[in-house]
Amino acid sequence: MFNQTMQKLGAERSAIRELFEYGNARKKEIGEENVFDFSLGNPNVPAPACVTEEIIRLAREMPPEKLHGYSSAPGLYEVRLAVANYIQSTFGVPMSADLVYMTCGASASLTSLFSALLIRGEEVVVPAPYFPEYGVFIGQAGGKIVPAETDARFHLDLGNIERAITPTTKAVLVNSPNNPTGAVYSEEEMTALGALLRRKSIGRKTPIFLIADEPYRELCYEKSPVYPMAVYPHTVVLYSFSKSVSLAGERIGYVAVSPVCTGAKELFDAVCGAGRSHGFVCAPTLFQRVAANCLGQVSDVGVYKANRDLLYGSLSDMGYTCTVPEGAFYLFLKALEPDEKAFCERAKAHELLLVPSTSFGVKGYARVSYCVARAVIERSLPAFRALIGEYRA
Ligand code: PLP
Repeated sequence: MFNQTMQKLGAERSAIRELFEYGNARKKEIGEENVFDFSLGNPNVPAPACVTEEIIRLAREMPPEKLHGYSSAPGLYEVRLAVANYIQSTFGVPMSADLVYMTCGASASLTSLFSALLIRGEEVVVPAPYFPEYGVFIGQAGGKIVPAETDARFHLDLGNIERAITPTTKAVLVNSPNNPTGAVYSEEEMTALGALLRRKSIGRKTPIFLIADEPYRELCYEKSPVYPMAVYPHTVVLYSFSKSVSLAGERIGYVAVSPVCTGAKELFDAVCGAGRSHGFVCAPTLFQRVAANCLGQVSDVGVYKANRDLLYGSLSDMGYTCTVPEGAFYLFLKALEPDEKAFCERAKAHELLLVPSTSFGVKGYARVSYCVARAVIERSLPAFRALIGEYRA
């Protein structure tokens, strides 16, 4: 009677959300301090002061229709201009306000772009492990996700990407800093990816597009990632303010199409059309203004870095195998048995809520999301110790 695909999606929910709901119920049963909830990537560091100040200032000074009314469908022009100027001046690449589309976060950017870009059956190559919703978003646009496993450090394996590219490949999608591994791709590997895409695009009617999903761009602990438009012309950057300035619930982000991308104007029109057909209408007007006035501001990355150091150091000392996260706020842990779901169930018995890597398209790992209070990590360490002890016994 109803759309079976949608009914199934709604009924099964994501494994991450499922675990998060379980955690909330469990906290009610045994007390919040006794559950170590590492399930969700919900930023716990406050937004920078500029965000709160702008919300208050705008609420006081702006007439309501300029704050809470509709904006133009692609966003307020002055906001798009501010974003374009920011991209140009920060990353040294050309950008035009006419190619910036304000969205309800990276998720809306992804669904709009896939609907705009993909013709039924076309493929998107994605380094694995990857953010689980990619499969849903590519699927709704009639496309097919093609995983290409990363190397042992979860960095790009160009051989695997090359082997995954077929005549029906429309795009390669990268996410750096990465969810779920914390990998930040180096300038050299991104440049090599650009060279590969150039080579594989020769002789095609349209080049292979590079999609960069960048909600964690500023959350990195060592070097900042290279701007993808600087390494390859046919690039679309999807940005979100959810993580960098802790505004996940406010739903604000953008799509930026490189002006030197093949068919840039037509692709941009298609993105607008996709947003329209999805009923997005416009991105939240108040938060368009807040975002534009706080460009370049970042929540305190030092808090995430301190969490990373504590968690990575402690787990490594205990004997867990994990790669040091270079950015974002996730640690990808080798499961202590081949079946990651069984491992996460055993962790659950110690009140440790970890997400099995099945959700991320690979086997044998669990994701630990460490955007939590430091005290949660400190209190969880005996549970991690007991868990590994169980496997050693
Ligand atoms: N892309 C990645 C890699 C993510 O981790 C997330 C959220 O966790 C999103 C996109 C969606 O972000 P948003 O809240 O901006 O929709």
